[in-house]
Amino acid sequence: STPLLEVNNLRVSFKMHAGEVQAVRGVSFRLDKGEVLAIVGESGSGKSVTAQTIMRLTPTPPSYIKEGSIVYEGKTDITKLSESQMGKVRGAEMGMIFQDPMTSLNPTMTVGMQIAEGIRKHEKLSKSAALARAIELLKLVGMSNPEGRIHQYPHELSGGMRQRVMIAIALACHPKLLIADEPTTALDVTIQAQIMDVMRDVQEKTGTSIILITHDLGVVAELAQRVIVMYAGQVAEQGSLHDIFYNPRHPYTWGLLQSVPRLDSDKKSELSSIPGTPPDLYAPPKGCAFAPRCPYAMKVCMDNDPPQFEIDGPAHTAKCWLNHPDAPKVDRPIETGG
Ligand code: SF4
Ligand code: MG
Repeated sequence: STPLLEVNNLRVSFKMHAGEVQAVRGVSFRLDKGEVLAIVGESGSGKSVTAQTIMRLTPTPPSYIKEGSIVYEGKTDITKLSESQMGKVRGAEMGMIFQDPMTSLNPTMTVGMQIAEGIRKHEKLSKSAALARAIELLKLVGMSNPEGRIHQYPHELSGGMRQRVMIAIALACHPKLLIADEPTTALDVTIQAQIMDVMRDVQEKTGTSIILITHDLGVVAELAQRVIVMYAGQVAEQGSLHDIFYNPRHPYTWGLLQSVPRLDSDKKSELSSIPGTPPDLYAPPKGCAFAPRCPYAMKVCMDNDPPQFEIDGPAHTAKCWLNHPDAPKVDRPIETGG
């Protein structure tokens, strides 16, 4: 069937005084209807810029789409839309949730009015009908006493409740795609789990597709069916949740998996991170972008950018020379396998 979204060789750069920052460098993926896709990577990997570009939210200038297409429902190329055409897509077709709800909520307006305004921007509805839907939406995101909450202001709510309100606003016009950029990062651990439960619940009830942007593979395991691992503006590896957790084929994915706190360990909070820093995206390396941090780097890696190697078919690919048939066999540093 037609995918909801098809991103083809997307390149996004920022023109700065010091030169061009190549933030997204040839990203391709597809998202099916009702699917939950996680995009994982460190800060600066291009995951947020990719998500924001789908909603055309990166500032132009300095950002611009250098190449590629983002095809929505098999017909509309998002990269070609004008700002006013895009205004109709945002909110109505796609909703977005950000890390910090406080910066996106209007402090001077009750939450009921903010949700109602969002609805009325796209649909001809009376204020009272829109407020009635606001109450339904607050119920959907698990808010207690929604009839009372609609009269409250953002500062009267906890961080977790504000994030629920943001999810309600994002869902107000029944979008087919919900993009959540680090939706739980600013919240403490117990609230994070509650918000992930809300997301899962909302996905099951509405059937919306979700793109979840996160640096945390633990969060991914909670919700996603498919995973894209990004590094230095490129897709390092992509596959099903099972592929990524049980048959990872890229050393960067191995590193990320080592950083996931083990539930069966008492050293839960000790995250081992991958030594080194990502490459300078003003001047990306000509070989593998991960080579300077990769314990398995070979000569070929320095000189030649690896292609996406298919692992048992096109649904699982890894951009690493270790997947070449003639590559040496290496021992993975982590135990995988269920
Ligand atoms: Fe490491 Fe080479 Fe694979 Fe890059 S291509 S991740 S340097 S082994
Ligand atoms: Mg980000």
